[in-house]
Amino acid sequence: MPTLRFYAIKETFNRVPVPVTEPERRSEIFGKNVFNKSAMRQYLTKDSYKSVMDAIENGTKIERHIADHISTGMKEWAIAKGGTHYTHWFQPLTGATAEKHDAFFETMEDGHAIEKFGGGQLVQQEPDASSFPNGGIRNTFEARGYTAWDPTSPAFIYGTTLCIPTVFVSYTGEALDYKTPLLRALQSIDSAATDVAKYFDKNVTKVSATLGWEQEYFLVDSALAASRPDISLAGRTLLGHSSAKGQQLDDHYFGSIPDRVLNFIRHLETECMLLGIPVKTRHNEVAPNQFELAPIFEETNLAVDHNSLLMDLMNKIASKHNFKVLFHEKPFANVNGSGKHNNWSLATNTGVNLLGPSTTPTKNLQFLTFFINTLKAVNDHEELIRASIASAGNDHRLGANEAPPAIISAFIGSQLTEVLDELEKVTNGKLSPQEKTDLKLNVVGKIPEILLDNTDRNRTSPFAFTGNKFEFRAVGSTANCANPMTVLNAIVARQLIDFKVKVDALIKDKKMKKDDAIFNVLREYIKDSKRIRFEGDGYGEAWEIEAKKRGLSNHKTTPEALKAKISKKAISLFEGLGIMSKVELEARYEIEMEDYAMRIQIEGRILGDIARNHIIPTAIRYQNILIENVQGLKNIYGTDFKKFSVEQMHLIEQISGHIAEINKGITDMIEARRNANKIEDVTKRAFAYGDDVKSYFQVIRYHCDKLELLVDDEIWPLTKYRELLFTK
Ligand code: ADP
Ligand code: MG
Repeated sequence: MPTLRFYAIKETFNRVPVPVTEPERRSEIFGKNVFNKSAMRQYLTKDSYKSVMDAIENGTKIERHIADHISTGMKEWAIAKGGTHYTHWFQPLTGATAEKHDAFFETMEDGHAIEKFGGGQLVQQEPDASSFPNGGIRNTFEARGYTAWDPTSPAFIYGTTLCIPTVFVSYTGEALDYKTPLLRALQSIDSAATDVAKYFDKNVTKVSATLGWEQEYFLVDSALAASRPDISLAGRTLLGHSSAKGQQLDDHYFGSIPDRVLNFIRHLETECMLLGIPVKTRHNEVAPNQFELAPIFEETNLAVDHNSLLMDLMNKIASKHNFKVLFHEKPFANVNGSGKHNNWSLATNTGVNLLGPSTTPTKNLQFLTFFINTLKAVNDHEELIRASIASAGNDHRLGANEAPPAIISAFIGSQLTEVLDELEKVTNGKLSPQEKTDLKLNVVGKIPEILLDNTDRNRTSPFAFTGNKFEFRAVGSTANCANPMTVLNAIVARQLIDFKVKVDALIKDKKMKKDDAIFNVLREYIKDSKRIRFEGDGYGEAWEIEAKKRGLSNHKTTPEALKAKISKKAISLFEGLGIMSKVELEARYEIEMEDYAMRIQIEGRILGDIARNHIIPTAIRYQNILIENVQGLKNIYGTDFKKFSVEQMHLIEQISGHIAEINKGITDMIEARRNANKIEDVTKRAFAYGDDVKSYFQVIRYHCDKLELLVDDEIWPLTKYRELLFTK
């Protein structure tokens, strides 16, 4: 009987691209399934419409009787689109999205039925919080949680369900999701950045953080994926020898997209259009069967929701095209991993990108103010930034194959480095008119011209300035962007608040002019944040040694990195801004540590199972074939058989050697797991999993991969790297 592997390969050979229909113009279907402004205008009264807009723009509360009107309008719109159910759509700390559908349908006393959706159902629901991760909050408080409508992210129809984006909090108000702290951080950055932007333009009344994510992923044929227990259960390969050809030839990057894949992407893009996700770019990535998708940037809360929705959509649509999407940060050893670059900037309600250099010196002083404050924030909170992207999956990616290292640093390019070097020299105290003119003309005034030819991009930098935005590249491909975005916006908000206090003090106490005060504070910040700037190659020991000298952290594993999350500094930052309390931070820390330990536990079990139940029996079968062969030779040649069976005998011994090592590795790993499971303390348990249990993975894998090279291809049970990576 052929192995599952060959059934899967055969299945794959017979695949044809699944046909898709696309609209003539994407613009025609864009946002058709979103309860957006135009839908609201059609289905809501003037008052209701104004109330929603007010809530979106100014954060005002929507009154209950208005909510009743809105829910009715929403329901009518949804039914007109074929909707039968509604759900509060939220992002619990599992990282995935959650939904519980209820029908609009309700029966009346007299036996007839109606479609109903009241304001109460729109505004609030009470899912059982105990089935979602809560990091102990449930034990301390109450099991109940509730979801509450977030009017800043529009409702949408997905399938036949009206989805209402909501926050998810415990009964006592602690956040149990990603959205709640994000919204609070976005409020902080809005108010802090608006205050600073007013130095330059009094008309600014609101600043929005913008986010444009780039989603990297692998596609594997669904039959091939199903043939591998590790891919099915852990989303990555735990063993498998490298393919003779990998990504050495760089022949996949930006190459033509295979038809089957292209149809999947076209299908996906059409669905994205309907849901108002403005996807724009698609291309092959560096590794074989790796791709990337990127939208036009949006306000951060919306962009985060759209990314979560997209990942869900990708899974669903991929299965229609017989693909499995691998979002894992490192599905294959020795091949590029996947990230989710978070492009981030700040936009004013007057239409200015605060991180975009401009043509006038005043506007450029504004640009430099936000630019330098961001660098200072990253410098002061590099450990927290590292913690915000920590996960078991990302640990495999950071520092390997073109991904950024675990050390957080910022790349700004040689031209801006020169500008900062010049600014560092400005006079301490009041600037002479001559100096000011010189600065404006020759330093601040020259920026736009310079930046245009600033093409030296550094792909390994975790946090790079790319012309008019920062690109946070260390984020992992499975991550919910809310986590890193909450941290980034919080630290920059904190920084801008402190900046304003200093500038105002210089103006008031030292009687400085505004510009002089700003130059003076920026000069100090440039000096203070020098260590975070790094333009070189992020690989290898040289940078590690240098970074250590600079006092930058280098946390290679998640348990190490996560500690910064509950440091005194982090607690004071988040509590100070009203974004998260100590209880909330500790809960998150616990959930993430637990998640880390559990993932390694699951991987350990899968690896043990594959090695013992698939690899070893196969190796023994092959060994038996060899033994039979040697016995046959002995029958024919008598004592002379040795002359003809040198290789076979050698193979038989080698196989026995590898089997013994695998068995020992598994036995030791199980023992390590047993010991780790006995540990009560979640931090210590996570370390035990990371340091002890995981250390056996490499040994077990090494010997399994060696066997893959020895054993007859015909009986090898696991689909091989070349088949996974190169089947199109
Ligand atoms: P790449 O980094 O792959 O070369 P681009 O630099 O063209 O790609 O842009 C990547 C992403 O940056 C896109 O999703 C784009 O929408 C986003 N982006 C561009 N400007 C901004 C901005 N001001 N704020 C946030 N994201 C932005
Ligand atoms: Mg990019």
